[in-house]
Formats: sequence, structure tokens, C-alpha cells
Amino acid sequence: MYLDLLQQSVQFQQGVGPRRTDALAEAGVKNLRDLLSYYPRRYLDRSNVTSIQDLKPGSDPVTIVGKVTRIRMIPARRRSRFELTVMDESGSTLSCVWFQGAAWISKLFEQGQGVAFHGSPTVYRSVMTMTHPDFDLLDSDGPSLDTGRIIALYPGSATLSKAGLSSRVFRRVIYSLFQEHGRVFEDILPDWIREENNLMDGRVALRAIHFPKNQHELDMAIHRLKFEELLFIQMMLWTLRVERVQEKGIRFKRASGPSYVQQFIEDVLPFELTDAQKNVTREIFADMESGNRLNRLLQGDVGSGKTVVAVAAMLHALDNGYQSAFMAPTEILSEQHYKNLQVYFEPLEVQVRLLTGGMKKSRRDEILSGLVSGEVSIVVGTHAVIQKGVEFKRLGMCVIDEQHRFGVMQRASLSGKGKTPHILLMTATPIPRSLALTVYGDLDVSVMREKPPGRYPIHTISRFETARDEAYGMMREHLSDGRQCYVVYPLVEESEKLDLADAENGLVQIRASFPDQRVDIIHGRMKSDEKDRAMTGFSSGETDILVSTTVIEVGVDVPNASVMLIEHAERFGLSQLHQLRGRIGRGPNKSLCILLASFKQSNVAKTRLRAMVDTDDGFRISEIDLKLRGAGDFFGTRQSGLPDLKIADIVEDAEILFQARDVANKLMGRDPKLSDPEHALLSSYFKTFYAFSKMKLSRIG
Ligand code: ADP
Ligand code: MG
Repeated sequence: MYLDLLQQSVQFQQGVGPRRTDALAEAGVKNLRDLLSYYPRRYLDRSNVTSIQDLKPGSDPVTIVGKVTRIRMIPARRRSRFELTVMDESGSTLSCVWFQGAAWISKLFEQGQGVAFHGSPTVYRSVMTMTHPDFDLLDSDGPSLDTGRIIALYPGSATLSKAGLSSRVFRRVIYSLFQEHGRVFEDILPDWIREENNLMDGRVALRAIHFPKNQHELDMAIHRLKFEELLFIQMMLWTLRVERVQEKGIRFKRASGPSYVQQFIEDVLPFELTDAQKNVTREIFADMESGNRLNRLLQGDVGSGKTVVAVAAMLHALDNGYQSAFMAPTEILSEQHYKNLQVYFEPLEVQVRLLTGGMKKSRRDEILSGLVSGEVSIVVGTHAVIQKGVEFKRLGMCVIDEQHRFGVMQRASLSGKGKTPHILLMTATPIPRSLALTVYGDLDVSVMREKPPGRYPIHTISRFETARDEAYGMMREHLSDGRQCYVVYPLVEESEKLDLADAENGLVQIRASFPDQRVDIIHGRMKSDEKDRAMTGFSSGETDILVSTTVIEVGVDVPNASVMLIEHAERFGLSQLHQLRGRIGRGPNKSLCILLASFKQSNVAKTRLRAMVDTDDGFRISEIDLKLRGAGDFFGTRQSGLPDLKIADIVEDAEILFQARDVANKLMGRDPKLSDPEHALLSSYFKTFYAFSKMKLSRIG
């Protein structure tokens, strides 16, 4: 049986012993299905090989193919290197050099060995050289596996190499798998899906992805396997959506007389809602009144005014006699939210409380009993606080702010609280529609693109660190107009101490450079009351300059702050820089964001800084960030609860993704239980390989 075969351990596969089994496991390859979907990282196309005599120093990476003519280890006190010379048919030679891993790499080559190298040539000691090129060993006289026109190169690692698992060995092992078991392979997709979507047969595609006959066949195979991968994800999401639609929620009613919502919007808010805010509020209320559970993600750029929408939703719950919880990822942000909410709720006489970790037990107990009795209507806090033994009289609504900081699993644990409370997730890291559909396919998504009126765009500049005095000069101009400034230092968790030292030195430096200004510091290591004092001092205008680590990244709202100076800007991620920048430009004043970066910066860092200078649009920033980092890292699939994608790319393959979604909907709509005999194999495959992730996912909402 095909499915049994796929689940067999790689261990007994020809060419794989216990040692290689361990190395493969480390690369995530445990069974034969994993091995078959250990897709090549690149292909070596022999028709695309450059002749050594035509190499140009500094060019883009190219592939050369030849034979090893000389190898030598060059010992050195500090760093030995391994040098190899390769000659190709043109009779010219190229030198290849390794510093890292020289010892083990030297063992892989011998004279006369057929090899392919891929890298950028440079001139080193007047010899054409590739440093640390990708390589592949070729059997010049072996079977056609290595000498075909297009040869698969597999992702490698030190562990795989040490276990002898070169691309060449991968080709052999996978080839033997086809030889031995190819007969029992089946296409898991039914004929109608394949025919309607012009897909290659699954068996052919699997062989072709590893041993393509030509480029066309390879392209067809890649397309088919991407489609298949995305189809299964869409099938999972379809199942989740169906479960969710069947999930009953508390049915709220629209108030007929005066209501908290109405008073809030008409009397309390000092401004008109933007059209975007109105639309989204309407969508949210409609969900809350539908009898189903609200399970919606609100995406809106920093400063678009998401909080007001959340407040309206919480007040709608209150109008219906239900309590709400408002959660933020950090204590600083919860405190900020609490202060803002107090301003809104005080005139309405709505009881709101802040729960923090550092709070006195007596105070905490008092709040907890207020929640049980129902006297407290709204509680604000970090997620951790809400989780620990907090009981409600009638919880009807949960708001989770800056949801990108929360894992899916944390969201999941919410379900336990009360009877299926409505859930509103908010994020200022918007993601493109295609990704939202896939990662949040079980949620409804609302988008706010518009920002409140009367804001000046933020002017952003990027300078080298040597321009610090110039930057200070610009800060002085704003300070003398009565504005306030942030100076931000990176905080990377692993080196928290070191970065803290950075911020503390920064404080000393700023105090020395701004003797007439009041300067304070805030960072994650401070006690909550200290943080609170620092934040209050800054909000009230007592402090002019706030030196901080990235703790102020989200949600902090001080409209009078108009300059942000970011030190070591090259070390921040793009979304993070944009989040930070969102702390300014919140008032009617012209705002300035100054990025100070070291001379030493990677190309990616340069692109990030460039993007910050070029655009202030959060959606655009997210797209660029996504391209720079790739979907996996951008949205850690671990966090999404979805299986890793092995071949498809959610962003690049958006077209295939939409197609797969249509097919999944059609398939599941017709045969929701996949009980049609035509779908038997598809059904067992889906249950076998996607069941676990599905279980994890279904706990989200
Ligand atoms: P974010 O979407 O980043 O959470 P906030 O909810 O913190 O944004 O709102 C940013 C600022 O905009 C706040 O100072 C808020 O009072 C203000 N604001 C929100 N809505 C409006 C509006 N419709 N008109 C004017 N200002 C608004
Ligand atoms: Mg916010």
C-alpha cells in the first residue's frame, strides 16, 4: 500500500544506515514521504554552465563543471584553509578556497573527481577564485544520474555532509526508492482535479522533481507539487471554517434606547470616527449579533485608530450585560491602554481595572472578586495575567491587541474562558491578502487602510553613526518648539544585558549632550512601578527625552513626541522599525524619524533602511519585509499552527494558492466527508498526514 510505504522509516532504505538516519532526522526527514518531499534546492543545468575561461570577477554566481586537478590543505596558526584547483574542458583553471569547515570539506574531494561549483568568482592573489562555493560531486563515468542535462542539488548541512549525504548520495538514495517501490506509487489526487486544473500526474511529478528530463517537465512537476501542498492546507482551513460556523456564539442585540456605545461615540469621543472605523465597527457588530461567534482579525497600520473600534465592541458587550477582557503583549502597553481607556470610560461610569504581574496581592484579590461579582466590567492586562485563575461573572468579549505577538496556542487557551466569548484580534503588522487567507484562513479579516485626518506624514532619514551631532541638532530644534523625543536602542533577547548597557550608556551621553533637558530611561528590566513612573513622566510632558529599549515598540501613545532617534538601526527588523516609528506622528506636528546605522551593514539591512526612508505605508512595509524574510520566518509557521511549506511560497505562488482554494471549496462542498470512493486515497492521505496539525489548529478559536 502506498500510504504504508510513505510512512516507513528511511532507515531501511538502500544507502541509508543508522548514522544517516540520524542525520536525516535532524533535517526533518524521517519517513519515505519526507524523503520524497526533500525537494532539490537548485538544479544544475548543464546547458547553463559557464566556461572557466569566460569567468568575470565580481559577476553574479555562475556554475562551472570540471575535474579536480590539485588539492591542498594550507595550515596556518590562526585559520587553516583548503584550496582546490579545477580544470574544465576549456583547459582553464579555477581555484576554490574554504576557510570554514576546511578540515571536513577537504575530505570530500580527490584528484580527478568530477565536480560542479556554484559561486561568484573573484580574483584572489591574481588567481581566479571562488570562496566557499556551493558544490556537487559528479561521477563522470557513473550512471546517468549525475550526467543528465538537469541535475538536482539538495539542501545540505554540516551534519548531512559528515554523514556523507551529499547531493550525489541523495540522488542515489532517492533513485533506489523509485527503483524498489515505484510500482506501488499512486496519484493521490482524483482524476477530475488533475484534469480540470491541468496538473501533471503525481507519480510523474515526484520522479520529475528529482530527475527531470527537461526544463518543461520540471516546471510542470513543480507546479503540480505546489498545487498539491496548498490544496491540503486549504482543505484544512475549510474544515476549520465549517467547524467555526457551526460554533454558536452569544447573540447580542442592538440597543433600542440609549446605550453605552451611542454615548461613547456621540458624547465621549472628541473626534468623528473615520469611515474605516465606522465600516469595521459595523462588521464587528454584525458578527456579534449573528448568533455565531465573532472571530475576526482587524488589520490596521500603526495609528489607524484600532483602539476606538475595540472600545466600541467592548461597550456593545456591556450594553448586553457582558464583561470584556482587553489583552496586550506587554505590561507597558497594558498600562498605556488602561490609561486611555480610563479617559473613555470615566464619563460613562464604566468600571475598568488593570491587572499586572507586579501588583500587590490584596489589590489583585480585590479586582478578581470584582470580576466574579460582575462589578468590574472591563479588565486590561497582559495575556499571562488573564490566564492565571481569573474568573468572570459573564465574559462576552476578548480583545487581543497586537496579535502578531501572540502565538496561536495562546489564542487557543482563551476558549476556555466563559462560554465562547467573542474574539477580536488586532494587528498593526498587516499581511498581504494571500497570506492572510492561508495563515488566518479560519478567521474573518477586516482591514483599515485609512488614518485619522489631520496628521502630517513622518519624515524619515537614514544616516551613519558619525552624523550623531547633526541628529542631535535636529532634536534640539523640535525640543525648543516644546516637542518631546524618543531615543531607542535595540534589545535583542539573547544579549539583553549588553543592549541594556547600550541604552544606559546612551542615557549618560544624552544627558551630557542635552544638559537643559529632562531625560529619563525606560526598559524591560525595570519594575512595573518604575516603568509606570517613567512612562507617566513622559506622557505628562515632565520628561523631554525618553531613552528606551524596544519596550515602547507597540501602542505607546504620546502625541507631543515628534522625534524618534533610533540607534543601531541596522540591527532592527523592518516591521519593528515601522512599529517604533509609529510612536511619533500621532499629533498635529511635523515628525521626524532619524535612523542611525553603523557603516557595517548587510545588503538586507540597507534595503530595510531604504524602505523606511521611502515609505510610511504599513502595508507596503509588510510586503517588503515578507519578501526579505520569506513567509516562514515572517510568520513563523510554528506560530501559525500550519504545517511547513516545502515547495510552495505563499507570496510568490499566490495565484496557485487562490486556485487551490477554489478547488478545495468545490471538493469539500461536494463531498465534505470525502466519502466518495473516487476520493478514498485523497481522504486517507489527508487524514494520515494532516490530522495532527488540524487538531492543533482547531483549538485556535
Ligand atoms: P492603533 O491603530 O495604532 O492602535 P490608536 O488606537 O492608538 O492606533 O490611535 C492612534 C491615535 O489616533 C490615538 O491618539 C487616538 O486617540 C487617535 N484617533 C483614533 N481615531 C481617531 C479619529 N477618528 N479621529 C482622530 N483621531 C483619532
Ligand atoms: Mg494600538
